[in-house]
Amino acid sequence: MHHSTPLIATIVGGLVLAFVFGAIAQRLRLPPLVGYLLAGVAMGPNTPGFVADQSLASELAELGVILLMFGVGLHFSLKDLLSVRKIAVPGAVVQIAVATALGVGLALLLGWPLGGGIVFGLALSVASTVVLLRALQDRRLLETDRGRIAVGWLIVEDLAMVLALVLIPALAEAFGAAGGASVGAGAIAATLAITIGKVMAFVAVMLIGGRRLIPRILDWVARTGSRELFTLSVLAVALGVALGAAYLFDVSFALGAFFAGMILAESPLSHRAAEESLPLRDAFAVLFFVSVGMLFDPSIVLRAPLQLLATLAIIIVGKSIAAFVIVRAFGYTRPTAMTIAASLSQIGEFSFILAGLGLALGLMPQQGQDLILAGAILSILFNPVAFALAERGMRKAAPLVMPAAATASAATAEAPAPLRTTTLHGHAIVVGYGRVGSLVAAGLREAGAPHLVIEDREKPAAVARADGAELLIGNAAEPRVLQAANLGGASHLFVAIPQSFEAGQVVKQARKANAELVIVARAHSDAEVSYLQQCGANMTIMGEREIAQAMLGLAVVPASRPPDSLLP
Ligand code: AMP
Repeated sequence: MHHSTPLIATIVGGLVLAFVFGAIAQRLRLPPLVGYLLAGVAMGPNTPGFVADQSLASELAELGVILLMFGVGLHFSLKDLLSVRKIAVPGAVVQIAVATALGVGLALLLGWPLGGGIVFGLALSVASTVVLLRALQDRRLLETDRGRIAVGWLIVEDLAMVLALVLIPALAEAFGAAGGASVGAGAIAATLAITIGKVMAFVAVMLIGGRRLIPRILDWVARTGSRELFTLSVLAVALGVALGAAYLFDVSFALGAFFAGMILAESPLSHRAAEESLPLRDAFAVLFFVSVGMLFDPSIVLRAPLQLLATLAIIIVGKSIAAFVIVRAFGYTRPTAMTIAASLSQIGEFSFILAGLGLALGLMPQQGQDLILAGAILSILFNPVAFALAERGMRKAAPLVMPAAATASAATAEAPAPLRTTTLHGHAIVVGYGRVGSLVAAGLREAGAPHLVIEDREKPAAVARADGAELLIGNAAEPRVLQAANLGGASHLFVAIPQSFEAGQVVKQARKANAELVIVARAHSDAEVSYLQQCGANMTIMGEREIAQAMLGLAVVPASRPPDSLLP
């Protein structure tokens, strides 16, 4: 019984091949996204074998963009957004102008018309949301100042592209009707005004109406007690606002989803719940890379090698230099400028839309689209290297200070930055500085016991640093991080993280390195208790059991008192 199921074939083919190629890339010590892109090339029309549905893959990738931007919105407040506008707005505008000018220059050299050059240049100027967000997330930079600037910058680029998408057809008419540019000027101004008006109307509707309505809907759903309905309501808000923004206000999906997330984040409980209910996000982000790979036609490398090199130079070198110079000119530090330059030195989904539009309007030749598609995949492949170069530059700039970004780099193409091994001996190691680990460390501090903290997220790490704890930033399950904590010389290890699988990895490695070490781990179920003990923990504390005992203690104490003490 075989019937045509292109959607299922595309999703399953994409996820399975991405997994296989991603795992191979990981084994070869390459970033997994290289594997995802190659999976796309393998299932694309330009290589033999299984060919998935290209347009379905692109739509699925859009879902990834929506969910990612929604997730970023959850960590952003309007205040954050406004606080970076002074750099993000001029930065993005100048960078777009520089990249477009370079693109026009190359197009004219290749003998294309000016209109085609503008579309080509604009396509090279705008970075991919998915690539940028994934790069920042992997390096735990999203919630830092640098990360906020990069996200603000991305949003300005996004807005600029919304304008470009409506202006290009109008411009095409002006270019098409030779000498009719003056006729077109009025129409262009009107189109521009209407588009800006729509964007402003969308923002106003979200800030006034959405702000009241969305948290209320979620609070109401939470009160129904149905977890399924709650998850559904979060997805419905994210996807519904994104689609509404696109259809009613001509704003991009990404921008719509970002605003939905930002508004939801204003109520703290829905924020946390919403975050937990976004497991689909990563799967769709992977499909984004697969869909980019599918567009790639490897023969372009042979057909137009020099043109391709020039295109890549604009994306990687031209844009980076422009971003670096602008950020420095605004008085930001070198690491900030380098991170922003690296994060924006790639192109993606918007570029494909622009390329398609330019081709459909007859502004740009087919070769323009081919160069944009090839430029996208190669610049995305190069992106981890760009980050590695930026990190190396940062280390050179400040050899004594280990920036968090450098210590936390997990997915770079080259070996990650070395961690400074602790000089402590006979010390305790606390893994995780959240609700549990921070209390354990506070107790150790009070008792004067030497200890160090391992934490992998920037925010809790900053709290640990402010509390004066010796700190290693990184994932404790990574051998190099644990080694830097001097397991051999430690006396106690407190594994205070909630994910038992990762905790088990930490415990196993620690037990292997030091048979005498007293290992205390955190668990949430009987199965986790026995798993962690099998891994080598001496003691396992199940949070829920301790809470129950504390509750019971409160109930039993009054009853155990003499009856008359309960009387008024
Ligand atoms: P909580 O559940 O509030 O006690 O928080 C747990 C803390 O552990 C969070 O701050 C996490 O960032 C941190 N954490 C979770 N997994 C790891 C890991 N593998 N390595 C280091 N820190 C971790």
